[in-house]
Amino acid sequence: MPLPRIPGFILVTKIGSGTFSEVYKAYRFVNSSKQVVAVKCIVKNELSTNTVDNIIHEIEALKLLRHPHIIQMIDFSWDDNFIYIIMEYCEGGDLSVFVRSHKQLHEKICKSFLCQLASALQYLRQHNIVHMDLKPSNLLLTSRRNPILKLADFGLAQSLKNRQRETSFRGSPLYMAPEILRRESYDASVDLWSTGVILYECLFGKPPCSSSSLKELVENIQSKAAITIPTTKDISADCKDLLERLLQKDPNKRMTFEEFFNHPFVRMSVASSNGAEPEAKLVFERAQKMDKWNRRSEAIILYRQAQTLLNRLISADVGTLRETHTRKMLDVCSRRIQEIESSEDVLKRNTLSVEAPLSRDLRANMSPTFQELHSLSSTTPDLLSSLEIGLEGVQYDGEGQHAVALERYKAALEKLIPLLRSESKGRRRELLRLQITLWMERAEQLQIIHDLQQSNLEELQSGDASGYCSLQ
Ligand code: ATP
Repeated sequence: MPLPRIPGFILVTKIGSGTFSEVYKAYRFVNSSKQVVAVKCIVKNELSTNTVDNIIHEIEALKLLRHPHIIQMIDFSWDDNFIYIIMEYCEGGDLSVFVRSHKQLHEKICKSFLCQLASALQYLRQHNIVHMDLKPSNLLLTSRRNPILKLADFGLAQSLKNRQRETSFRGSPLYMAPEILRRESYDASVDLWSTGVILYECLFGKPPCSSSSLKELVENIQSKAAITIPTTKDISADCKDLLERLLQKDPNKRMTFEEFFNHPFVRMSVASSNGAEPEAKLVFERAQKMDKWNRRSEAIILYRQAQTLLNRLISADVGTLRETHTRKMLDVCSRRIQEIESSEDVLKRNTLSVEAPLSRDLRANMSPTFQELHSLSSTTPDLLSSLEIGLEGVQYDGEGQHAVALERYKAALEKLIPLLRSESKGRRRELLRLQITLWMERAEQLQIIHDLQQSNLEELQSGDASGYCSLQ
C-alpha cells in the first residue's frame, strides 16, 4: 500500500489507527502561517464504490455542522488509494488513553465529560444524525491538562459499519449495544447504551462487561443478566440511577434521549453546556470573526457580550475543567476591548455599519462561477429555482436591504444543502458547494449584525443601554 500523500499538506506523525484508517498530525501552510490539522486517511480498497460515494456525500454535509463539543470537519479529498478527511486537531489524545493513564476518574470529571458528550449528542439529534459507534477512542480531548471533550467520527459510522457487518465485526464489541450483537433491529438508542458503558469505564476504570476472551465478552453482553454497579467506589445516587437506566440490555427498558437530557445528573450541566457555554463560545467566536474582518465596532460589542456570559460561566464552574479555558477567553476579551477602545477610529465611528466590503466581493466574485452553475442547472428545476432565491438575496444585499437578503439567503440554503447531498460528483457539485459556502458566510455575517441590532434594541427598550453604541 503506498503512503498517504495529500497535496498542500505535510503529514508529520501518525497519531493513531482504526479499522479502516490511519490518522496523522499534519501541517498546512496558509499565507505563510502554519495550521495544524489532523488528517484521517481511509483506505479505499477496503470499501465498495457505493460506500466511498456515501462517505464523500456525508462529509460534505458534516462540514456544515458547528458545535464546541464536535470535531470540526475542515475539508476532504481523495486519490486512488485513500479518502482524506481534514479535521480539527486535538492534541490531548483520546478518552481511552486519558482513562487508562488516570486508572479511574473522579465523579465530578466524569460528569463534566458526560455533559459535554450529551451536549454534542443533542446537537447531532437536532440534525438527525446518529453516531452508532460511540467509544472512548472517538472522544478526543483538546489538551491533557485542561481537556475539553470533542466527539469524532459521527455520521461516517453507518457507511463504514455496513461494510463492517458484511465482513463480520472487526471493531471491539465492548461498547456495542446487546441488540446489535444479537443482530436484531436497532435504533439511535444504541448510542445511549454506549454512553452508559463509557460513563461506567470512566468511573470504574474498565467497561462493565469486560472479560479475558472475546467469546466471553459477547456472551456477557448478550446475556439477560442485569449490569451491576460496583459498590467499591462511592458514587452519587443520581449517577448510579443514570448508569442503571442507560445500561438496560433491553432497548425497550432503556431510558429515552429526552429522559437522558433531563436526568438530574446530566440536566444541570447540560444546561450549562448546552445553554450558557455554547452561547458564550459562539458569541466569543463571532467577536473574533468580526475582529478579523476589521469590523471593530461590532467586535467590541460582541466581546463585551462574551465577557458577561463567560463571567457567568466562571462562577458556575469554579474548580472544574472548564474554568481555565473560560479564563483564557476572558483574557482575550479584555485585551481586545482595551486595544480596540484605544484605537482612535472606533471612537469616531461609534455606529453599527452594515455596508460590508464582503457584499461587494460577493457580487464581484459570484458572477462567473454563479453563471456557470446557473447554466449547468438549467435542466434541474429545483436547483434552478433555489439558486434564483439566493440571487434575489444578492440583489437585496446589494441594495442594502439586509433583513430581506438574510431571509432569502436562508431560504435558498435550506433548499440547496439537501440538494448538494444528492448531487453526484462533477463540476456542478463543486460549483454548488462553493456557492453554498459563499452564501453561508454572508448569511452568517448578516445574522450576526441582525442579532446585534436586536440585542441593542432590547437593551434600549429596557432602558439598560450602556451607551457605547448607537443604532443606525
Ligand atoms: P475504528 O475506526 O476502528 O472505529 P478509531 O475510531 O479509533 O477506530 P480512527 O478514527 O482511525 O480509529 O482514529 C484513530 C486514533 O487517532 C483515535 O483513537 C485518536 O486517538 C486519533 N485521532 C483521530 N482523530 C483525531 C483528531 N482529530 N485529533 C487528534 N487525534 C485524533
